[in-house]
Amino acid sequence: MNDASKFGFGTKAIHAGQEPDPSTGAIMTPIYQTSTYVQESPGTHKGYAYARGKNPTRVALEKCIAALEGAEYGLCFSSGMGAMDAVCKLLRPGDEVITGDDLYGGSYRMFTKIFANYGIKFHFVSMTNAENIRKYINANTKLIWVETPTNPTMQIIDLAACAEIAKENKLILAVDNTFASPYLQNPIALGADIVMHSVTKYLGGHSDVVMGALVTSNKDLYDQLAFILNSCGANPGPMDSFLVLRGIKTLHVRMDRHCSNGRKIAEYLKTHPRIEKIYWPGFTDHPNHEIAKKQMKDFGGMISIVLKGADLEETFRIASSFNVFSLAESLGGVESLINHPATMTHASIPKEERERAGVVDNLLRLSVGIEDVDDLLADLKRALG
Ligand SMILES: *Cc1c(COP(=O)(O)O)cnc(C)c1O
Repeated sequence: MNDASKFGFGTKAIHAGQEPDPSTGAIMTPIYQTSTYVQESPGTHKGYAYARGKNPTRVALEKCIAALEGAEYGLCFSSGMGAMDAVCKLLRPGDEVITGDDLYGGSYRMFTKIFANYGIKFHFVSMTNAENIRKYINANTKLIWVETPTNPTMQIIDLAACAEIAKENKLILAVDNTFASPYLQNPIALGADIVMHSVTKYLGGHSDVVMGALVTSNKDLYDQLAFILNSCGANPGPMDSFLVLRGIKTLHVRMDRHCSNGRKIAEYLKTHPRIEKIYWPGFTDHPNHEIAKKQMKDFGGMISIVLKGADLEETFRIASSFNVFSLAESLGGVESLINHPATMTHASIPKEERERAGVVDNLLRLSVGIEDVDDLLADLKRALG
């Protein structure tokens, strides 16, 4: 499909970047399991010289993800962290980054334990009022890194407001759009420069691939990021690219079910006597519900709950007592997962900082899958007692 832009989301998910194989008519993009490409004479290749730089299966997926985000260019990486690593490598010693105070644990770890050692300074600040970002901008600031909804407390950050601040100050705005997926939120349209995905989650959707992606409509940023990808080598393989091309074709259908199951479960848990607090942006009393409504198509299937009066032992007991939900890290797959952020996904954040962000020991995060919602509700009812 050469011009995907005129089609709807589902049509793009199924067709963008993909043409029937010219030699056979195969409707699925072949798995180009090759490391190199034959040249007739030195330098006369057809755009493909060595597979770290480019692979046709990967290129089809990159075009598809870019189309879904409404961006010009896409790049795929061996993991979400690999994609983020490439964004950090746009920076130089002395540069400063402003980011949120409720980040994916691995993002926090990469900023503080890796790039801080290279002379880059990170400010972890509250972004629920985007104006707060301005206080931390100085002559060295280069990048604003935003996650929304945040993980795991489902804060919603106003992306259009962040983009305005970034533009005024000539900063790069990068958005981790993993939790929303391109089906629910498109940061490029709201003014972001770079969108990052852990493709491992909703885009792949079947818990069988680890991958990351970046998209941008800025040619200069794309060229720099493609150079970093080729130079540093965090490229995904063709088999994984194929699996994601297959998984992504149902993204829109899966997301509708994640959202409807998520809504029913959030509503059930909101009044449950064992629940002290629930985080889900679809509630009208969520502090940033209006912004969520404005920038997201729906509210997703990620829900966090704080158990009333439960100590760590009781929290562990409940987390381990589900039949349909599986206790596991990760999210966004067809199967429902439950996670204990304090000891699992967010264990790398110091306890004090973690608790300040609301990630207490009795908080559990649900990734609501696309099973029959009645089975999920029965599982919750039984496990919560
Ligand atoms: C999982 C995740 C990442 C990291 O992605 P990987 O594919 O696991 O490397 C980054 N951000 C968010 C919000 C995530 O959920």
